[in-house]
Amino acid sequence: MTSNNEVLFQRAQAHIPGGVNSPVRAFGSVGGTPRFFREGKGAYLWDADGKRYIDYVGSWGPAILGHADSDVIAAVKQAADHGLSFGAPTEAEVEMADLLCKLLPSMEQVRLVSSGTEATMSAIRLARGFTGRDKFIKFEGCYHGHADSLLVKAGSGLLTFGNPSSAGVPAAVAADTLVLGYNDVEQLECMFAEIGSEIAAVILEPVAGNMNLIKPSEAFLSTLRRLCSDYGSVLIFDEVMTGFRVGPQCAQGLFGIQPDLTTLGKVVGGGMPLAAFGGRADIMSKIAPLGPVYQAGTLSGNPIAVAAGLTTLKKVTAPGFFEQLNKSTQILVNGLLAEANTAGITLSAQAVGGMFGVYFSTRCPSSYAEIMQCDKSAFNRFFHAMLDQGIYFAPSAFEAGFVSAAHTEQDIKQTILAAKTVFSKW
Ligand SMILES: *Cc1c(COP(=O)(O)O)cnc(C)c1O
Repeated sequence: MTSNNEVLFQRAQAHIPGGVNSPVRAFGSVGGTPRFFREGKGAYLWDADGKRYIDYVGSWGPAILGHADSDVIAAVKQAADHGLSFGAPTEAEVEMADLLCKLLPSMEQVRLVSSGTEATMSAIRLARGFTGRDKFIKFEGCYHGHADSLLVKAGSGLLTFGNPSSAGVPAAVAADTLVLGYNDVEQLECMFAEIGSEIAAVILEPVAGNMNLIKPSEAFLSTLRRLCSDYGSVLIFDEVMTGFRVGPQCAQGLFGIQPDLTTLGKVVGGGMPLAAFGGRADIMSKIAPLGPVYQAGTLSGNPIAVAAGLTTLKKVTAPGFFEQLNKSTQILVNGLLAEANTAGITLSAQAVGGMFGVYFSTRCPSSYAEIMQCDKSAFNRFFHAMLDQGIYFAPSAFEAGFVSAAHTEQDIKQTILAAKTVFSKW
């Protein structure tokens, strides 16, 4: 019998490029047919065939309360009854800004936008406008959305400038993006010694989650903070993924480092299109209408998205929320490690807050180069075998996983049991 997922995927490809509205969804990395979901509730998703999965993607991060959380849904319904969009200020967005600035000591002012891409693109423009400099640094393997200047990979050699990583990005745009190695302190020091006074900003994921999961070293973060302060460069923490995912004060709270600007997305919208960028008031005051850096959005601060975001933020910053989430995530990681160990399979894994990484390698990687050495075909086999068992992990060896507050002890146990079955037939 043909699966409804296959039928839908065939049909989708007629009028949607590749059948998907965002590339990783196509299962290109793992092969096979993407699942089309028709419902999500708590930790579960149901596909077009009615098959149930325990979900560890969580819409790539936002679903930290699980799917269709009753408080979030109620807030969205209530907001919808009052109108979908006004293109004018509302009280709820003021409340959202107040809450974000209260939760994050580094954030004095914040602007709401509709996607993480918009947040990082605007933060880069702002940093350039504020400093009057063009060049900025990003790190290999970090993803910051799909703005032109961020779709850039390393050139050859330390002081050569970046090359476009996508067709359609002019070489001239990429040339001002410098791409360095994550956790490479020496390279960073060299770059600043050479051209520090020309660098507008450094942008990074303070825990990298778009090349599987990579933790920053303490030296990497403290060196970044020191160099940016010394050279007057704007330190941007892209916390679109880590924001309210690794702790109640995001990664900056976890590591005790204050960035100059922060970008947020995913969890802050609670599943609706909402993102934000904010930070030091002297920098934020350069944005229109106060300053010369232009930035705008028809749907920015959308009332429905703000309602979902506010309700989500209040729940995730309640006392004890992260203690429980951290515990669930750690139990999952420990369980997977134990089963792999029993079966004699080379696996490493780690968690930060409600994020986790699973690697088919002897130890947890700390750089893009090390991630690339993991056994990708082993991951792909694992992914499909787990999918058969009703466990939905991200369809790529280079994505982090997410646990939600809706994942019960029983769900996690069932996941570990599924891994045991998979590994026993390895
Ligand atoms: C997801 C993500 C983005 C892009 O956000 P979109 O809402 O998909 O545009 C940017 N930065 C990081 C770190 C992300 O994980």
